Amino acid sequence: SYAVVSDGMMSAAQERLERMVVDSRRIVKLQVESARDDAEKADVPIDPQEVLLQRLELIYGGRTPSELQLALYDARLEPIWGSSQSAFIEVGAGSRSAAIDEGRTVPTTIEEASPLRGLVRPATLPVQTVHIPLELPDGTTGVLDITYFPLREEQAIDAIRAPMFALAVSAMLIMVVMMQVSMGWVLKLVDDLRRAAESIDAGRLDVHLPDEGKHEIGDLARSLNALIDRLRRKSEAQARFIADASHELATPVAGIRGYTNILRAWGADDPEVRDEAVSAIDRESRRMARLCSDLLALIRDERTLTLRSVRFDLNARCRETLAAAATRHMSKGLEFIGPDEGQLIMVGDPDRIEDAISILVDNAAKYTKAGIVSLKTRRKRDTVVIEVADTGEGIPAREVASIFDRFYRSDASRSQETGGFGLGLPIAKTIIEGAGGTIEVASTEGEGSVFTIRLPRGHA
Ligand code: ADP
Repeated sequence: SYAVVSDGMMSAAQERLERMVVDSRRIVKLQVESARDDAEKADVPIDPQEVLLQRLELIYGGRTPSELQLALYDARLEPIWGSSQSAFIEVGAGSRSAAIDEGRTVPTTIEEASPLRGLVRPATLPVQTVHIPLELPDGTTGVLDITYFPLREEQAIDAIRAPMFALAVSAMLIMVVMMQVSMGWVLKLVDDLRRAAESIDAGRLDVHLPDEGKHEIGDLARSLNALIDRLRRKSEAQARFIADASHELATPVAGIRGYTNILRAWGADDPEVRDEAVSAIDRESRRMARLCSDLLALIRDERTLTLRSVRFDLNARCRETLAAAATRHMSKGLEFIGPDEGQLIMVGDPDRIEDAISILVDNAAKYTKAGIVSLKTRRKRDTVVIEVADTGEGIPAREVASIFDRFYRSDASRSQETGGFGLGLPIAKTIIEGAGGTIEVASTEGEGSVFTIRLPRGHA
């Protein structure tokens, strides 16, 4: 603000000087002419220069404004008249003679004062002098100096210094307070983040950072909250998985222990009880073995699913899968309809893809009491589509979203002794998604289900 004021005052001084130059030049020029006329008309010969000086004294003597001073030099640059001594100001050699030689007005800045001078000490603006060449009454060319002392402007600057100082100090104080407030706010947010990091480190994932506001810290808090949510969901899923797995394992173990006790109590005497207990233990231990192998498959697939890329005939693999399933479920008297004749060549991991298809075909057979299990394949541009359809019990609409969750089994299938653990579909999904494909289901309760796998065909 100070720089603006002192700059403005400097140009105001410049303007005033220009006005004074025009006026003074005209007045002095007129006086030169009239002095010459007066000298000519006089009865006794007099020096026209003398007449001029008298007239200038008369006009200006003691009446020039305090900030303006005039001086007149003759051709030899000797001062011949001035409104005061101080008007005869030392200027750089040559600027006066330049005005005479070149016949034009030459401005000179006498003292280049620093504009900062008014900031703490009284203001000093540069003093300006203008040298104007003039034809003197004696016929020689002299110089009229008009010097402007920017006193009024300096006074104006001095007058506003105190309020401006106060303004600057209060602006600084306000800034300091604002910085303190905003720093405090930022530090509080950083502290929140630190505490969140500490509680995550301590294994607590129930923290939620304040994330309102559209600023960088808000964005950071939002992404951290999303990260914490993800971690929490993952850790909850893991805990659920472990709980479910233990629960599933506990059931056959309890069965085995029960039958072992029976065997111990009555097995020696009653061969019928013994046979029943042995076959039950056998059944339960098989179930445990199956569960363990399913769990291992799931963990292996999720952690280190490495898929081969080989060229193979999908239709041939599907026919084999279907034949194996038909053998496993022979007793149910279902009709198995295989893929169309001919080959469907694709690139992928035939064994893992077959695993996934086998899970779907097995499910179709398991959850169909009577009717048809069909396996169809087709090619659609760069994708192969595999459809496993059945005419079985179907999946209630409210359960469709959950059937790919680990350990999920519908209530209906839980009550049946189909022997699953709710791990088949998650395993199939992991394999198919790992191979860059998708798996989805469409089902109508009581009419049947269609599971559709879409896989990239690869460069077959
Ligand atoms: P499970 O070992 O119980 O079969 P899955 O993960 O393979 O486990 O399937 C999860 C649940 O999805 C099953 O318990 C069943 O309720 C339902 N389901 C899967 N496939 C079918 C199907 N073809 N028809 C009807 N229900 C099905």
